[in-house]
Amino acid sequence: MEVLETACIYGADAVYLGLRGESSLRASARNFSLEEIGRAVAYAHGKGVKVYLALNTYPHDSRYGELPGLIRAARDAGVDAVIVSDIGVLAMVRRTAPGLPVHLSTQANAVSSHAVEAWRGLGVSRVILARELSCAEIAEIRRATDCELEVFVHGSVCVSISGRCLISDYLARRGANQGHCTQPCRWDYAMVERTREGQYMPVEEEDGFTFLYNSRDLCLLPVFGEVMALGLDGLKIEGRNKAALYVATVVSVYRQARDAYLEDPQGFAVQQGWTEEIARVSNRGYFTGFFTGAPGHDGINYDFKGYEQTHHLAARVVDVKDGRVTLEARNPLVEGMELEWLSSAGPRRCFTLQGAVSEGTALTHIRPSQVFSLQTPFVPVPGELLRKPFSEGDRVVPGRTR
Ligand code: SF4
Repeated sequence: MEVLETACIYGADAVYLGLRGESSLRASARNFSLEEIGRAVAYAHGKGVKVYLALNTYPHDSRYGELPGLIRAARDAGVDAVIVSDIGVLAMVRRTAPGLPVHLSTQANAVSSHAVEAWRGLGVSRVILARELSCAEIAEIRRATDCELEVFVHGSVCVSISGRCLISDYLARRGANQGHCTQPCRWDYAMVERTREGQYMPVEEEDGFTFLYNSRDLCLLPVFGEVMALGLDGLKIEGRNKAALYVATVVSVYRQARDAYLEDPQGFAVQQGWTEEIARVSNRGYFTGFFTGAPGHDGINYDFKGYEQTHHLAARVVDVKDGRVTLEARNPLVEGMELEWLSSAGPRRCFTLQGAVSEGTALTHIRPSQVFSLQTPFVPVPGELLRKPFSEGDRVVPGRTR
């Protein structure tokens, strides 16, 4: 819920979410219960933000029994659309809740206008295109159909075609298409001779080439003007397993870029500050996916040392009253520390942490989860975030966080 609120505060005009269980492709994430979906919809709609529910696994017959109840509950909760991949799920949504719009997941791998039109004929109102498409191909599809189209602009991608993959089923007995991927494509592989247990020999094409299938993360910011010129109906940021700081940063950057483009398409240029911000959140190195042509070696991060990230979450604004700001710490904080306030409406602002008070006691050290108040040289809104750069002695190790 907190991540959803963060997305709404920092400029998303729609969010997608999953239910607990195996109905979405992030089954292990802290997803929403049916009751929480109602709260999420009420909050998002109050901010003018749409909510799309992902029902995009490929259920076997044994799982179909629960679907009508989930679909009716989603409709009654007021979700704006459901996202499906499987044609059987699509048919069931159409039968159970005929008025509920259906979006086709990228997982269904639509790569042509013919596929888009065929899905539309089956009742789909929006197609989230497969990620394996170039800018020219997307433009061609856009010209050939007036069905709503959406593309991914940012986030993790699979080395297999839009996530259709059995590596996790095979190595971990956890199926990617049932939402249980353990991401074995990111594991560090070595070779072991049968009789020499524990002696790991590197599998290397060249120095350091051991992360054979570890795709870089998609980032279409460098070509954002071309993305916007396509006239799409939705730009999707992958974020269902991401923390609030990631969501705030990435959503805010793309929102600013979108607004800047719409204000002056001819004069649009990617700002250095946006690129720097995007580099500050957890990532595996960026590339532009298939948008600028099929990726080669540059699409894989062979020399993976862990997630790249320069900042972590310091605190979240809980309340603002009578000039005092109440915050909840998310990492250890110490008086005198430099913090950055991530304003949802303007540039970020740096300030020095001082004058923190909790239950009438002045604090020099603040522990995670502790609620405290202080006077700030700015007026934030509840839900906004403060961050701090990694520094010596931080408990969180850079490169190993999300
Ligand atoms: S193992 Fe990797 S490529 Fe396969 S589904 Fe999972 S994340 Fe995607």
